Amino acid sequence: MGKYIAKIGLEMHCEVSETNTKAFSAAKNSYSEIPNTNVRPVDMAFPGTLPVVNKEAVRMALMASMILNCKQPEYMYFERKNYYYPDLPKGFQITQETKPIPVGIYGEVEYECDGELKKVRVNNLHLEEDAASLDHFYDTSNIDYNRAGVPLLELVTEPDFHNANEAVAFLEHMRSVYQYAGISEADSKKGQIRCDVNVSIMEEGLDESDPKNWGTKVEIKNVNSFGGVRDTINYEIERQIELKETGEYEQMEQQTRRWDEESGTTIYMRSKVDAIDYKYFVEPNIPKFKITKEWLKEIKASIPELAMDRKKKYIDKFGLSAYDASVLVKEKNISDYYEECVKLGIDAKVAANWVSVNIVGELNKEDITIKDFYITPAMLKQITDALSSGLLSSKQAKEVFAKAVEEQKEPKNFISKENAQISDESELTKIIVEILDNSATQIEQYKGGRDNIFDYFVGQVMKNTRGKANPVMTKEILHKELDKR
Ligand code: ADP
Ligand code: MG
Repeated sequence: MGKYIAKIGLEMHCEVSETNTKAFSAAKNSYSEIPNTNVRPVDMAFPGTLPVVNKEAVRMALMASMILNCKQPEYMYFERKNYYYPDLPKGFQITQETKPIPVGIYGEVEYECDGELKKVRVNNLHLEEDAASLDHFYDTSNIDYNRAGVPLLELVTEPDFHNANEAVAFLEHMRSVYQYAGISEADSKKGQIRCDVNVSIMEEGLDESDPKNWGTKVEIKNVNSFGGVRDTINYEIERQIELKETGEYEQMEQQTRRWDEESGTTIYMRSKVDAIDYKYFVEPNIPKFKITKEWLKEIKASIPELAMDRKKKYIDKFGLSAYDASVLVKEKNISDYYEECVKLGIDAKVAANWVSVNIVGELNKEDITIKDFYITPAMLKQITDALSSGLLSSKQAKEVFAKAVEEQKEPKNFISKENAQISDESELTKIIVEILDNSATQIEQYKGGRDNIFDYFVGQVMKNTRGKANPVMTKEILHKELDKR
């Protein structure tokens, strides 16, 4: 970029999808069902109804706060953020302000970007409720209150990212954290992750740690995919550089824009000057309550193994390459599948290869998740066992795998003694000697140094055994027998 560096801060919203019920009501936490069926009176703001804090949501939020190395509060309290919108029947959202302290404050996270470890500071993490979802059609708009009140974690970073790659790598890291910690599916296809992206540019060479040197912040609201975040950042940096070059940047005021997928541009929504005053105040229907040290300890001890821990284990204990290990841990479900294979006794490296190459390849081809994949770890073991006992060649193993996938039948149905690979030395020698006894002319040519004639013998053995001869042994024995003649 030359003269400028970009400062980028993210506000990442992730739904907590793994609680049974909503943040402050007993309605089921699931909105992928018939619209307006998971709704309780409190979600609709009926008079006289009261919110009840979901302890499980608070537990998960505190766990996320610990993973982000944030400071946890001594007392938990919530606040009202007041505004009117059709997706918000109460006229306010129950959320948490940054002061004095939400579920987490002032943390730091390490994430990997292009093979390098990077750090980002976390300003805060807060727990709030989601709004209903609005679906716009040609001449109507439908409101689905199933989503109203679903617990939502909002993570606010400091503007420590400098380019789209870093921001997206961080989002991928956080998706993995939420999945591994059992907090959320964190599926952006389901709309569970939504980001506000803040971008400014500043002159290169100035002290970056001094906010006075930062440029004017532009906030791009509601970017719903990681690809969208990447495009938004790249577009916005370009746009701001252009304003610098034409001398208009200095007049630009803080503003909110939105990402327009269709045109691939950001579009002006409002100036920060017209910002709504949300009139925050403490939610009076939820008395603040103490978070005990014992509970925090318990939560800390229950943090499951995260992707980075598993990756380290795969490299140090299983002997995998860093690359293979990162492919395997990228999706928790795939990593779980792999761990199951190892637990069943498949060699760690053999299993890694099958999962990261053959199985992931199949999933991509069919566009399905590993949960919907027919071959279970136990079925994969049928193939790897046959491979290690020499019953199958690696080529045959792949064929058996493909057949099992295609016909949705267990691999063992396609593994039999009759089509097993021939790896018996005396049996192969017998076949080879017989072929050589009938190949006087070719042996003469071989002795005369004719090119490619060795391949002729290999071909004869394969023809004779219908491709079942162990190819490495075939070549070894052929050389030995030819030398004798
Ligand atoms: P606001 O008060 O407008 O909500 P905050 O200071 O709380 O703004 O920051 C919101 C987000 O904007 C954070 O992610 C923060 O890192 C980011 N941010 C703040 N200043 C800048 C800047 N100059 N350039 C880019 N991002 C910024
Ligand atoms: Mg918020």
